[in-house]
Amino acid sequence: MSEIPHFLREGYLTVEELKNYVGLPSEERLRAKPVAVPECPQEIPCTPCKEICPTNAVLMENPNAVPRVDYEKCIGCSLCVQICPGLAFFMVHYLGDKARVTMPHELLPVPKVGEEVVLLNREGKEVGRGKVVTLIPRERSKGDTPIITVEMPLELAWDVRAVRVRGE
Ligand code: SF4
Ligand code: SF4
Repeated sequence: MSEIPHFLREGYLTVEELKNYVGLPSEERLRAKPVAVPECPQEIPCTPCKEICPTNAVLMENPNAVPRVDYEKCIGCSLCVQICPGLAFFMVHYLGDKARVTMPHELLPVPKVGEEVVLLNREGKEVGRGKVVTLIPRERSKGDTPIITVEMPLELAWDVRAVRVRGE
């Protein structure tokens, strides 16, 4: 019997799984402009990310296939992050010794631009502090969830996938 993958057992992807299932953009690409990364390793019948992408950067062999991104075609528009019902798309951009990660923010309250927030890793544990640099509120998003971009230390770019408003 094959072993159940960690992400199914524990409910979150490790960075190693992400590298294996999806593949990460090169450092050069990460520094050029924001790039979308699909963290969606299960074969499910779902295609909004592919349909909304204006440059056909989201690749799926069939409607059940795991999405991949042609990182060179991605223009960092964040539409896939907004539309994904599984909250499984993120964008990452390296800027000097910081990274900016764009992510859905499901919980209330929604942080404000400029606000310092608590950074949470893939397991939901606190790993530091970051600052919200952009916000797409729910009413302007293509999906049902506000989208935030959070600046954080570069070394946390692949660990942090949620934030908590301080004092929550
Ligand atoms: S960020 Fe925009 S261009 Fe890049 S994969 Fe997502 S929808 Fe396509
Ligand atoms: S829209 Fe989201 S859940 Fe659906 S296939 Fe794309 S990444 Fe996966």
